[in-house]
Amino acid sequence: MSLDELNEAQRAAVQSRDGAHLVVAGAGTGKTRTLVHRVAWLIEQGVAPGQIVLLTFTRRAAEEMLDRVAAQVGPEARAVRGGTFHAFALGALRRFADTLGWTPSFTVMDREDAEDMVGLVRSELGYAEGKQKFARKGTVLDVLSRSVNTHKTIQEVLSDQYPQYGAFADAFEAIGRRYAERKQAHGVMDYDDLLVLLATLLRDHPEARRKLSSEAHHVLVDEFQDTNRLQAEIAVLLSSAHGNLMVVGDEAQSIYGFRGASVRNILDFPKLFPDIQITKLEENYRSTQPVLDLANAVLDSAREGFHKRLRAVRGEGPLPRIVDVIDEHDQADAVVKRILALRAAGVPVSKQAVLFRSAYHSFLLETRLVEEEIAFKKFGGMRFGEAAHIKDALALVRLVANPRDAMAWFRVLGWFEGLGEKTAQKIGDAIANADDPVLDAAQFKGRKYHAALLDLANQLDSWAPLVMEPVSCVEAVVAWYRERMPSIYDDAKRRLKDLDALPLVAERHQSIESFLSTVAIDPIEDANADRPEGDDEILTLSTIHSSKGLEWEAVHLLQLADGGFPSAWSLDDDSAMEEEIRLLYVAVTRARRELWLTRPHFVRTRGPTGVGPGCSLLEPIEHLDDLVEFLRHDPEAGADSAASEDLFRRLRSFLDM
Ligand code: ATP
Ligand code: MG
Repeated sequence: MSLDELNEAQRAAVQSRDGAHLVVAGAGTGKTRTLVHRVAWLIEQGVAPGQIVLLTFTRRAAEEMLDRVAAQVGPEARAVRGGTFHAFALGALRRFADTLGWTPSFTVMDREDAEDMVGLVRSELGYAEGKQKFARKGTVLDVLSRSVNTHKTIQEVLSDQYPQYGAFADAFEAIGRRYAERKQAHGVMDYDDLLVLLATLLRDHPEARRKLSSEAHHVLVDEFQDTNRLQAEIAVLLSSAHGNLMVVGDEAQSIYGFRGASVRNILDFPKLFPDIQITKLEENYRSTQPVLDLANAVLDSAREGFHKRLRAVRGEGPLPRIVDVIDEHDQADAVVKRILALRAAGVPVSKQAVLFRSAYHSFLLETRLVEEEIAFKKFGGMRFGEAAHIKDALALVRLVANPRDAMAWFRVLGWFEGLGEKTAQKIGDAIANADDPVLDAAQFKGRKYHAALLDLANQLDSWAPLVMEPVSCVEAVVAWYRERMPSIYDDAKRRLKDLDALPLVAERHQSIESFLSTVAIDPIEDANADRPEGDDEILTLSTIHSSKGLEWEAVHLLQLADGGFPSAWSLDDDSAMEEEIRLLYVAVTRARRELWLTRPHFVRTRGPTGVGPGCSLLEPIEHLDDLVEFLRHDPEAGADSAASEDLFRRLRSFLDM
């Protein structure tokens, strides 16, 4: 292998002596590259690949790193034990399950199974029947999991996240205890158990700790700033036999605080090891200087943390640009236009990414990309047509278009109290085959759900004339569905916003059918079937959280306005706002050269009557204005500038009234 591709500080870290080592440095300074070379170097020094443990944030990241190691030292690098903390835990627990009183043949449940088990326990303990409405199984699991990961009590989690259940802490705890017993008795673990049990094993069972840590001669961890307390504890205990632990990270990129990650892990790391080596990397190899000037200014606007400077090895480039757009439509148009312009200028779409704070920010853009036949892959968060509540609303629209759509009936009937799956299927089939389906829906007299069914049938009747007016139809359906959401989802409030995109999408369509086929976006795999050129032509859409560690020639960042990014949930919370600033830093530092930030000035939301789009003025984010000297305004980039400026003025004066 060659160490020529490294600078001096990187090389020193790669060849450093055994012991604890912290590499702490800004984005794009080659931390991940240093880890890759360190692993290759260790193998060259004669360390058996099987005695190296490389822990990363995603399986994808681990695989990529090991590919790079293999390219340097050959295929034996495959024996390195690389992966996520969860995957590593699974392997270790298989061997030591006995020690913890578990069966070695335990299985791991996915999220859905875990929810179902919680649901069963909830019913057994009698919380599902009471008069007072109790939390759904998914919510109960969320609360239990959050408590484990953030080290908060159930009561604290409830007060923070689900105040409506604040009085039920005892019930959640009882369910939690029974759920834990049940899991152990049945030999099934959920995801959280993997970390909790491995930490317990390493902490409380010296024999197991000695064995596991003596097999792990070198432990290396990437993205250490986003580990939670359990993960940090696991890393330290795992290396206890040798103390060979190299962790790399950037405290300014800590963006998983909401999930219990603690930036203290990296800040306090040196305190654990008196003899620790610390490497700081100064030069950024990823981005041009103007991109980094913006990143530096973002860091300056954060109150916490070190204010370090990023220096570009690559030198100058174009200024990042800020694009003022009217609303999400205008934003989608502007971004599509820019993507195509860059492609024409020689930047393939595969080297471009659209990043956003919340998965729903890209919904409208996704439908535009489908129209333009630009293939994309989305990482982090659901795609538009996949979210449960979007599917719900679409099911209603489908019933307006086709009252015989049995699957849509089945979905809708699922919301009715006192109606099980079998009955729903029966009713759905009956209605779908009836002469007048809507009339038929009203026939189920005497049943608990009769009134609700009648109400729905009447609604469908009243919407029927709207079948040629997609916007009015979708608005009416969404307005009706909104009222029902709180009884369908415990986190209805969080989901409400997503619905705003539906009428906006409808605006582009002449008929309900064409609207429905656009939102039922084909999965990318199908789009790929006749695309032998592979990934070359595929654009990346990603939440900022899922863009960690990655880079693109051009980055388009969406929705920079209060309530978009920064997220509405963070606006009145100082520490959450700090995390938003770190997120902006992560987003900005993904760009190698071209960086476009769009800033919509209006979002269209439900009007005061609950029907039809209203408007609300977004506040462009404050610190972005402070950063403007690092940005170039680009009024031309907005869609139809002349027309839009006029509209802009009118909307503004309307809202100021
Ligand atoms: P992040 O904080 O985003 O995870 P990082 O510090 O892990 O970034 P890398 O991804 O390792 O940074 O490197 C950023 C880019 O710079 C990569 O394209 C990498 O190949 C390149 N790079 C790193 N070090 C060097 C070097 N010494 N010479 C040339 N290119 C380098
Ligand atoms: Mg990295």
